[in-house]
Formats: sequence, C-alpha cells, structure tokens
Amino acid sequence: MTPEVKAFVESYKFKPMPDMTIEEFFKLYNHEMWRTCSDCGEHFDLKKQLNHDRCPKCNSKNIK
Ligand SMILES: [Zn+2]
Repeated sequence: MTPEVKAFVESYKFKPMPDMTIEEFFKLYNHEMWRTCSDCGEHFDLKKQLNHDRCPKCNSKNIK
C-alpha cells in the first residue's frame, strides 16, 4: 500500500459514508486514469505508472 492510498484510507475512516463498503471504496479509488503525453503522444494509464507525474515512454512531465 502506497502512502498515498494509506492517507486516503485514513481519511475515509472519518468520513460519514455508511452506504459504502471498503471494497466499493477501493473500486472507486482504483479507477483508471488515462493521460496523454504532450511530447510523444503516448496514451497511458496513470494508475499503473511508478512515476505519476511522468510519461512512461519519454519521461516527459508534459502530460495532460
Ligand atoms: Zn511522452
């Protein structure tokens, strides 16, 4: 579990969401985040990358 996810789970505990189970919560949280690199045009799922602010192909930070 990454610190990012851990922090999210911690904050979840204090939020009043009685209708949502932890499984539903993770389903919601782990949805794919598609990004496109402005430099090389690579289309990738941000959730599967180690560096969330860089293009996996050309290492550019110019993603949107
Ligand atoms: Zn790129």
